[in-house]
Amino acid sequence: MKKVWITLLTAILFQFVSAGDYAVLSPDGNLKVNVSLQGGILHYNVYYKGKVILEDSPLGMVTNVSDFSRDLQFVEKTERAIRETYSLKTVKQSHVEYVANEVVGTYQTPKGEVMRVVFRVSDNDLAFKYSLEQNGETARCVIEKELTGFKFPTFTTTFLTPQATPMIGWMRTKPSYEEGYVPDEPVGTPSRYGIGYTFPGLFRVGDNGWALVSETGVGSLYCGSKLSEGTAEGLYTIAFPEEGENNGIGSAQPGISLPGETPWRTLTVGDNLKPIVETTVAFDVVEPLYEPSIDYRFGRSTWSWLLWQDGSINYEDQKTYIDLSAELGYELVLIDNWWISRIGREKVEELARYAASKNVGISLWYNSNGYWSDAPQHPKNRMNTSVARKKEMAWLKSIGAKGIKVDFFGGDKQETMKLYEDILADANDHGLAVIFHGCTLPRGWERMYPNFAGSEAVLASENLIFNQRANDTEAYNATLHPFIRNSVGSMDFGPVLLNKRHNRGNDGGTTRKTTEIFQLATVVLFQSPIQNFGITPNNLTDYPSFVIDFMKEIPTLWNETRYIDGYPGKYAVIARRSGERWYVAAINAEKEVKELSVTLPMFAGKEVALYSDRNDRSPQLNRVVVSGDGKVTLKIQPEGGTILTH
Ligand code: CA
Repeated sequence: MKKVWITLLTAILFQFVSAGDYAVLSPDGNLKVNVSLQGGILHYNVYYKGKVILEDSPLGMVTNVSDFSRDLQFVEKTERAIRETYSLKTVKQSHVEYVANEVVGTYQTPKGEVMRVVFRVSDNDLAFKYSLEQNGETARCVIEKELTGFKFPTFTTTFLTPQATPMIGWMRTKPSYEEGYVPDEPVGTPSRYGIGYTFPGLFRVGDNGWALVSETGVGSLYCGSKLSEGTAEGLYTIAFPEEGENNGIGSAQPGISLPGETPWRTLTVGDNLKPIVETTVAFDVVEPLYEPSIDYRFGRSTWSWLLWQDGSINYEDQKTYIDLSAELGYELVLIDNWWISRIGREKVEELARYAASKNVGISLWYNSNGYWSDAPQHPKNRMNTSVARKKEMAWLKSIGAKGIKVDFFGGDKQETMKLYEDILADANDHGLAVIFHGCTLPRGWERMYPNFAGSEAVLASENLIFNQRANDTEAYNATLHPFIRNSVGSMDFGPVLLNKRHNRGNDGGTTRKTTEIFQLATVVLFQSPIQNFGITPNNLTDYPSFVIDFMKEIPTLWNETRYIDGYPGKYAVIARRSGERWYVAAINAEKEVKELSVTLPMFAGKEVALYSDRNDRSPQLNRVVVSGDGKVTLKIQPEGGTILTH
């Protein structure tokens, strides 16, 4: 009898403690997510190897028909193991094995409305999303607010970039994810504009580890979200776009049909930066939304506009750049803004034929406008409506164009995310690869849209032309991207500017501070399936031939990406493999020569090509034999670089 009572009491107690409280463990057991209902409010926390990464952080949302922010009751949970392999042609690594544990928790409001939270935990990544059920005849809702938060311990420091105020910047085109990062700031430090931070956000949780917060799977069915301003307690929550973005057009709050779901929010965790550099979580939890209509070519491109600017948008200069691409063996050439009036359609058709005769494809620039900014560059009003877009793309296909670059979006509202998706989907129908500029962060798009070829969403190389400060901080910024922006998606930075002065004549304008080998290293550090390089015709003979030979051989698609070493803002060492060939690239943003001992198992016992800076900062190429244990000491000049390849 006594035993029965104890069993019953235990059962009641267990029920009381465990109702809605459960843990989700990674397959290797190191990453642990604890989910709990506290007074009807849903929370989760995250531990890595037993150390706290996120303290109790809120979950839930308020919609215009239901309130999932309080009074929730646990209904049930279901579990399954996920093992999936997929190919990922355009970013980071070509073959991915995704192994995760999924737990779906079901909760209901006192009115019986149902919200599910889906957690997927792989060895270094957490991805979670909400799904809402239809309730009676209510088949739609607007999400007024998400409670979703990330509460870091107060000793955490942040590496974040602010969201810009709507309708500021050049011709009122912001926000466009072109703000700087501030490294190692205490949590709760106010951001530059006071309206939060754009994804991804990097957090250093003291000695407990590193965490990268982002989101993925955002297409036309939700807005792009951001992180709120942080509190002094370390809490950052999901925030929606500002009302004023895109000239105030469209709702800042996302709407979904019921049943429906939110995008995935992701947290990548490690005790060093390796899992963050190598993560594929942005792609693991999304699906291709359509099949590629052709086998997209992607590849290397030259681009007159970067160094020669608007004055080069004429027939003769474009022919010169087609010749430059042909000379380098590149697949593409990009003709930038104003071509419609300065070259004209007929002459562009002639250029396309000339390029094709040299085995080079052309890409053409477009303004996304529309009525949401004052950006004056033409062609305008070709990409913003379905009718105009399809007509334009039919012409692009007829002249054999390979891709488009669409600029000046200026917001993250659902309406704008739909425009990105519509452009991508229509472009695929016409066999066109798409690059976005003046734009938002891509959120899983490399896998969702097979013709997506990169987004700017970074303080890109054009700034090296615009102002000296960008040159003075070039090395610093370059050491951030592999750990933050470029970690979650392709980045159309436009790297490799080999002119010493950033103007057409290489004799005026801003001054490059970094070395030539630094510039070469950025093609390994920065990744995008189409790379628009800042090489100019004079560069073919400016340097010893091994410099340009390196640029002729470098690929843009990689089979593997590996973290070797680095600290955001100080230095970065990243390895990428293409076929059998590994490239290891290192850069130094600090003021002194850096001596780094690294282990490069891919080169153990092999003779490799070593590109480095001489003491006078000029480029040199040596052949060295790496010892059998793969240990190498790199000596990197300030604002310089080193590359090893075999
Ligand atoms: Ca830009």
